[in-house]
Amino acid sequence: MRQAGRHFLQIPGPSAVPDRILSAISRQTIDHRGPDFAKVGLKALNGIKTIFKTESNVFIYPASGTGAWEAALVNVLSPDDRVLMFETGHFATLWKKLAEKVGIRPEFIEGDWRGGADPDKIEAYLSEDKNHEIKAVCVVHNETSTGSVSPIAAIRKAIDNAGHPALLMVDTISGLASIDFCHDEWGVDVTVSGSQKGLMLPPGLSFNAASEKAIAANKKAKLKRSYWDWEDMIGPNETGYFPYTPATNLLYGLNEAVDMLHEEGLDNVFARHARHGVAARAAVRAWGLEVLCAQQGQESGVLTAVMMPEGHSADEFRATTLKHFDMSLGNGLSKIADKVFRIGHLGDFNDLMLIGTLSGVEMGLAKADVPHKAGGVAAAMEHLKTASSGA
Ligand SMILES: *Cc1c(COP(=O)(O)O)cnc(C)c1O
Repeated sequence: MRQAGRHFLQIPGPSAVPDRILSAISRQTIDHRGPDFAKVGLKALNGIKTIFKTESNVFIYPASGTGAWEAALVNVLSPDDRVLMFETGHFATLWKKLAEKVGIRPEFIEGDWRGGADPDKIEAYLSEDKNHEIKAVCVVHNETSTGSVSPIAAIRKAIDNAGHPALLMVDTISGLASIDFCHDEWGVDVTVSGSQKGLMLPPGLSFNAASEKAIAANKKAKLKRSYWDWEDMIGPNETGYFPYTPATNLLYGLNEAVDMLHEEGLDNVFARHARHGVAARAAVRAWGLEVLCAQQGQESGVLTAVMMPEGHSADEFRATTLKHFDMSLGNGLSKIADKVFRIGHLGDFNDLMLIGTLSGVEMGLAKADVPHKAGGVAAAMEHLKTASSGA
């Protein structure tokens, strides 16, 4: 049966694609070796640097975020290299599995999936590695399975405090353009991101921002690579071209997205996400439910993961909101499957969209007979009324 009105896609990525970006993409694909392409390519390659806040190279792949995860590892590491990873949640676990498959040896600092990576534990671990066998520290900035943010600048400091030369590699696939990220200032060596979350684009583009130290490591790294090799990108990228066919139409979209982010102002974009995070958590608490992230100050402005009361199915609840309110919420992933649902509040998103989303959750909780108190939406509205939007 047809459902009238707009679908609410409130998963934490892919996020809703604004009309301006859809129109930008809806143009003829041009010759990617022709003279007109250079302008598109250079604008994309230079524009995305302002979002990573870097002056060094950002490589753009026609791939999902997983491709850029693999690219990051194979470009700077050699077979059997030890790397340190931190178990923040499902995505950190997937990156670790990928690391095993490409032939390096990841070691996991275990976590409880309720907070970001802990700099003190990383410092202690690296301090034990007297011979500097660990070649990289890999952390997820915004852990999309839990709604927790890792303190990247503090992790850089932890590595330096341990006097350790390991590269710092960060996945900000779901953090970029929603939560402040400073590739250069924070001393990150490789940053991985993707198009379909904070950048408001459809899926299909992903990124590696690389420091000079990472570019130097690329020259010595012995893991096998071809499609992902930065070395083949550097030359053509200088004039706005790519070694193989780029996702031309998504690059039109990327250029529009970067313009939109700067028109709003990056600081305003970050404040908007943070404010929506506070309002969403106020709603959860008013419902008498628990937010999965238990570390104060590390809660994400991108999404809120909500713990289901004992004995109730998060997936049945999500099926209810889809059926009755045409709203998709995020599911719990792997070990928290069916125990958690996730409210995405990222990308091209405003106050009324948040209130609509939270209304759907509150009505869904009632329809699915999930024990809760009414008044979550009212609590969120109260926050939005008092905390200035900056507009
Ligand atoms: C979405 C996401 C990924 C995976 O990206 P794909 O585009 O699905 O390959 C990896 N890490 C994080 C933190 C993500 O949010």
